[in-house]
Amino acid sequence: MLDGIVSEDVESIVSRIGNMGKALETCKVLVTGGAGFLGSYICDVVNKLGADVVCVDDLSSGKIENIDHLLGSGKFTLIKADVSSFEPNEKFDYVLHVASPAAPEEYQSKPVDTMRANSVGTLNMLEVARRSDARMLYTSTSEVYGDAKALPTPETYWGNVNPIGPRSCYDEGKRFSEALIMAYIRQYGLDVRIVRIFNSFGPRMRYDGAYGRVVSKFINQALSRRPITVYGTGRQTRSFCYISDTITGITLALLNEKARGEVINIGNPHEITILRLARLIKRITDSDSKIMFMELPPDDPKRRVPDIRKAKKLLGWKPFVKLEDGLKRTVEWYKLRGSV
Ligand code: UDP
Repeated sequence: MLDGIVSEDVESIVSRIGNMGKALETCKVLVTGGAGFLGSYICDVVNKLGADVVCVDDLSSGKIENIDHLLGSGKFTLIKADVSSFEPNEKFDYVLHVASPAAPEEYQSKPVDTMRANSVGTLNMLEVARRSDARMLYTSTSEVYGDAKALPTPETYWGNVNPIGPRSCYDEGKRFSEALIMAYIRQYGLDVRIVRIFNSFGPRMRYDGAYGRVVSKFINQALSRRPITVYGTGRQTRSFCYISDTITGITLALLNEKARGEVINIGNPHEITILRLARLIKRITDSDSKIMFMELPPDDPKRRVPDIRKAKKLLGWKPFVKLEDGLKRTVEWYKLRGSV
């Protein structure tokens, strides 16, 4: 069964999509990485809007518990497969290519797999979309900007990426995918939309081992009263977008005619230092965890903040959930699951 907090999130996304969601009724939608954090929310929303969903996931970082409530719905199929070699024998109306490791420690521990999902995987999904005459959406990332010098960063910024550094498997993989998509648009006129997702957080985000991201890790460290591990001085910044806002932006980009061939930043422009985030999470969880400073990983971007004027203008989208409110919902979700 879908738990209360996620269910409320899905309801709020569906209501913000409004009439536009009707386009998905009776459609067949392929979601790669559909058992992951973003992907499973997408499956929930698209399924709720009446589509028949095929989720392809190799479950290398995605989790079956994110989607098991959909399995009996009659409109959801899980195919355990690698996106690079998956060969569907059916056609789709929409293809969403979301599959990829996304946590820095995780993608750095399997750089070849990361590059494959975002090169051969993207090529394969573009071919699936082409054969199906489907519309495609690709979830790219703010990491294509690297250690950005233009802040807030607009879509027109070309990026400042170390092509051979430890993060390059992800950054350059995503950049290659974007270039490949543009080639398909130019050569075959395919209908593709690219969304560059900035740091998102919320229920279902993994916190364990190499899969953890800063918000999910800090919350679980605080709840279990373990030290909160701030890397470097903690003066680096990120801008965190609550999952329901992110998924609303992604769905609108998928459905809006004007987004065809466009690249759109999806994120929350509210910027915060990592040290302030640690203190905020400590306060919200009422935790006496110590803050422990650890070595900053190489090439960690110093600041990250999206310019979302394009998403506002083109999609009529902006984030609504305040950081503190999103954190409270997320804390509640982890507490209810007893997952610390
Ligand atoms: N970070 C941290 N402690 C952690 C994990 C991450 O201080 O335990 C920092 C990390 O160095 C980065 C920011 O938090 O500056 C965001 O890290 P995350 O892994 O969530 O993803 P990124 O935005 O770097 O892709």
